[in-house]
Amino acid sequence: MYRLNADQQRVVSEATAVAAAHIGPDAARVDREGVFPEKSIAALAESGLLGLNVPHTFGGREQNLRTVAAVLDVVGRHCSSTAMIYLMHLCGVACYAAAPGKTESHLRAAARGKHLSTLAFSEIGSRSHFWAPTSRAMQVNGGARLSARKSFVTSAGHADGYVVSTQATDATQPLESTLYLVLREDKGVSVSAAWRGLGMRGNASAPMALEDVALGEDRELSSRQGPRDDARGGAARVSSRLGGNRRGRSAGWSFSNGSTASRRRRHV
Ligand SMILES: Cc1cc2nc3c(=O)[nH]c(=O)nc-3n(C[C@H](O)[C@H](O)[C@H](O)COP(=O)(O)OP(=O)(O)OC[C@H]3O[C@@H](n4cnc5c(N)ncnc54)[C@H](O)[C@@H]3O)c2cc1C
Repeated sequence: MYRLNADQQRVVSEATAVAAAHIGPDAARVDREGVFPEKSIAALAESGLLGLNVPHTFGGREQNLRTVAAVLDVVGRHCSSTAMIYLMHLCGVACYAAAPGKTESHLRAAARGKHLSTLAFSEIGSRSHFWAPTSRAMQVNGGARLSARKSFVTSAGHADGYVVSTQATDATQPLESTLYLVLREDKGVSVSAAWRGLGMRGNASAPMALEDVALGEDRELSSRQGPRDDARGGAARVSSRLGGNRRGRSAGWSFSNGSTASRRRRHV
């Protein structure tokens, strides 16, 4: 389906073995109890697969979207919650990789399995209209302060890094957005409600509140000069292909639908 070369096939085989041994066996419990799949994410971390799209320079596998889609497909057939978390992690990492000067330590940590990322784009107010956030960063003493209400953040409270969209400090209209890296330990970051899904119950896609979070220039992932070639462009590309909207999420939904459909078939 993905027409992979030998190297890409090896990566997918490795992911298949990890998913069969560690992810699938815990999937029913994760869904039943609605808990974050810690063991599955640990298995991806230990096998180096959290570094799937981290560049070689930073210790990762540097795999492209084709391999990423095939690996997500495999993971999703074993546990849809894990696949959703992994998908959003890879989207976050793609944003880091577009601004390596500011994110090198996080890229290296992801490659070592020590950093989980996600996107915090959707807002109460703008919802699926990612390109027009309602929140806006305020310029304060050379840095920025950000308050925002995010409506769905996969891995909320579990991820180490959150790529957050908001209107730029000098925006004149909502389309002038920018991306910041917010870390879990930053002051003012909290999960504001629980995720109670009908399906994919372990992915913790809960709302989050950012209250006057202080962000230095080192956390701004989008460059002011060339948004198409930087993290914002990277996020849009990866998000549109993988996670943030229809086609990408359809990779995500297809694993969940695929596994749900096969369970339904067995039941009938
Ligand atoms: C499991 C899960 C995980 C998620 N993870 C993340 C994440 O990690 N990060 C993140 O940022 N977001 C995440 N999201 C949010 C997701 O990407 C969408 O933003 C969100 O599902 C859409 O918001 P909404 O439900 O408020 O729908 P709305 O945007 O209100 O849309 C509701 C319906 O109205 C339609 N609609 C909306 N606007 C218009 C319009 N102008 N004209 C016509 N029709 C319209 C839509 O197509 C849809 O059918 C996640 C969502 C889910 C379900």
